[in-house]
Amino acid sequence: PSSFVIIGAGQAGIKAAETLRAKGFDGTITLIGAEHWHPYQRPPLSKAYLKGEMSEDRLLLKAPDWIKGAGIDTHLGKRATRLDPATRTITLDDGTEVPYDKVLIATGTHARWLHLDSADLPGVETLRGIDDTRRIGARLKQAHNVAIIGGGFIGMEVASAVRTMGKTVSVVEAQERILARVVAPEVSAYLETLHSEHGVNLRTAVGVDAIVGNGHVQSVELSDGSAVDADIVLIAAGAEPTIDLAFHAGLDLARGIIVDNACRTSVPHIYAAGDCTVFHSARYGRLIGLESVQNACDQAKAAAASMLGEPVAYDPVPWFWSDQYDTKLQIAGLSAGYDRIETVGSIPEGRFSIRYYAGGTLLAVDSINDPRAHMMARREIAAQPPALAA
Ligand code: FAD
Repeated sequence: PSSFVIIGAGQAGIKAAETLRAKGFDGTITLIGAEHWHPYQRPPLSKAYLKGEMSEDRLLLKAPDWIKGAGIDTHLGKRATRLDPATRTITLDDGTEVPYDKVLIATGTHARWLHLDSADLPGVETLRGIDDTRRIGARLKQAHNVAIIGGGFIGMEVASAVRTMGKTVSVVEAQERILARVVAPEVSAYLETLHSEHGVNLRTAVGVDAIVGNGHVQSVELSDGSAVDADIVLIAAGAEPTIDLAFHAGLDLARGIIVDNACRTSVPHIYAAGDCTVFHSARYGRLIGLESVQNACDQAKAAAASMLGEPVAYDPVPWFWSDQYDTKLQIAGLSAGYDRIETVGSIPEGRFSIRYYAGGTLLAVDSINDPRAHMMARREIAAQPPALAA
């Protein structure tokens, strides 16, 4: 029987391992994870887990006993440092060499760092893993003022979580509005009002000049000459695919590892899935990269099928969610390139959908507090013919 290796023990990695076993693969599965944790879900890290409302057990995607029982060998707390397609060998940071017949790269993303003055002070954080949330949580016990750089999903979710904990929160966003890259102005405006009503100091259209402190962080200086106090600064400036292994192994790359619709990379026997990939979407007519649980799980399943020689074409309707206070935002599809929107429901009542069109084609639907509209939108978009952007 063959030996399959999975690099990255996150959402995609464990889903691929699980799928391989569910499909009857009886060879060796080796799961390599840089973190010392068993595979866990990240969404609660900026939501319930940050607020202390969820235990670590519940973050785990599979119980350690299940993983063992399924005959999945793990190397946790070990980073793969080299992938050699010529000898089909992976080298770990402790020198261990792991041979493979087929390998899946599921290394995800890492938080983008901003090289600001004094960014190395204690109290300047990013948020990607359990250890980050734990460190931030420990600091929150003493901290009063939290400054968040970046008004994206993670920034706004953390703002809502720490506001709920009674902290003073400032969010600094260089764009004119929060979540500008992903939602229509109407949705940004709705969420900006929500955050302002909850007492968040929202500073849009302003950059960050420097972080200031003495032994620990004290404030953040903004490009308009003002400053916000901070005992904790969260840099929430987006994520970058973790593709160093893939680069040195000679794989074709764009923003992430380029895979086909069966999760094959440009090098034989090497597959990739999850946040670290980009792929050509027939549905949207362009190369896309998705950072979502949906994509990590669905691509992992497609990769597993492909590794077993049973490829299925992967071209999903992407979907995503974000929880802020008691508000649930759900996104179906990708809205980039829309030329018209339609609002359904009531913005003042806080239950509405924004439907994005290009010509007569529905590209995406953002729903606020309307799970039913979200589910219907996913079906509606899926039912349309592909190549929307063509
Ligand atoms: P990951 O889950 O990141 O796993 C990759 C793993 O690979 C990591 O453990 C990493 O340490 C490991 N690794 C990297 N390099 C190596 C190496 N060389 N050797 C060994 N191991 C390596 N998505 C949603 O859909 N909804 C949400 O509400 C949502 N909220 C989120 C909140 C936060 C705070 C974060 C951080 C993410 C959130 N996401 C959300 C995104 C979602 O968690 C990711 O899309 C998903 O985890 C991607 O899965 P993945 O397996 O590709 O990567």
